[in-house]
Amino acid sequence: MKKCTKCGLPETYETIEFNNFGVCNICLQREHRDESIDWESRKSMFDDIIEQYRGKHDYDCIIPFSGGKDSTFTLYYLMKHYKLKPLVIQFNHGFMRPGLIKNNERTLKKLGVDVLSFTPNFKVVKRLMLESLIRKGDFCWHCHTGIFSYPMHAALQHNVPLILWGEPSSEYTAYYDYRDDEIESVDETRFNRFVNLGITAQDMAGMIDHDFDLDPRDLKPFTYPATRDLKRLKYRSICLGSFIPWDVKKQSKLIMDELGWEGDEVEGMPWEIYPYEKIECYMQGVRDYIKYLKRGYSRVSQMTALDIRHGRMDKATADKLVAQYEGKRPPALELFLEYLDLTEDEFNQIVLKTVVPPFKPDFDNMQDAPKTWDFDMWHREPKQI
Ligand SMILES: [Zn+2]
Repeated sequence: MKKCTKCGLPETYETIEFNNFGVCNICLQREHRDESIDWESRKSMFDDIIEQYRGKHDYDCIIPFSGGKDSTFTLYYLMKHYKLKPLVIQFNHGFMRPGLIKNNERTLKKLGVDVLSFTPNFKVVKRLMLESLIRKGDFCWHCHTGIFSYPMHAALQHNVPLILWGEPSSEYTAYYDYRDDEIESVDETRFNRFVNLGITAQDMAGMIDHDFDLDPRDLKPFTYPATRDLKRLKYRSICLGSFIPWDVKKQSKLIMDELGWEGDEVEGMPWEIYPYEKIECYMQGVRDYIKYLKRGYSRVSQMTALDIRHGRMDKATADKLVAQYEGKRPPALELFLEYLDLTEDEFNQIVLKTVVPPFKPDFDNMQDAPKTWDFDMWHREPKQI
């Protein structure tokens, strides 16, 4: 496979393009971010926005919060530097890990905030996972859509027009390019551009109602609210990372020092090096494994690419880590197959249909990734009798 000469991301990466020197657009937009964006004026733009909304409603803003490094940093930063009164909204995808729950309790108590948590019906979630796996080779549709639509419903219900998110998508993909110098708006256009995998809740209802006892209201948490309602609210939905330069490593260290936030082991990751990455969900290992089977790389490549761009890792170290950790079968696959009532062979056949050429997965030579410390605490489906 062709790979970026600078960061090593392969040609199967979402939105990637290469210039004549073989350097990818993610690297180039990153250079632009660091060299050409006027972060001082961005910051003062953000100050103005905050003052425009402060004190006018029951809450100054809504902060969607998973408890991962980015949303924890966002909440911390906004509380510390702006002393806001936020309504924190938590969408529970159904697979929150024990370490995350502990982190969240510590963070939310320490910062002193009101929190609303929402967990969708697990029977519905399982059916949605199966359908989006079959259609897109990505079982996380309920999570992608719920995380981005549910806080918007909450904004409407509580009449809070300002919604503040964490990292902008330009950090990882080129759907929004730093070089366009625009402020990424977290709105329905963005939702339909890449968040919902091209499947609206209405499409989804039509795809599953033939074999699932679906109440039309079941999919409301995954439906983006009507634009006219959001406009009436005069909503503004933006990322903190569009106004201050995002630095995952620095920010993770900060929340560890200031909030006692703890990293965790993640299946398929060199967790001594990346203890802060994607610790929220115990299906993460399966997600990364599918990515590997489809595209020939997983999160290790993404993380090392980010470090190379930051000048914190050399290419040889990155290559070694990628070779050592990527493409291993995660222990959570067994649980995942139980939830969806699939055999591993059925799973492989489904994933095979979504492979991105020129990559070809080799199912016969898969080694197993080690279990994380909390594996035995994850939800198991009762055996069908
Ligand atoms: Zn690159």
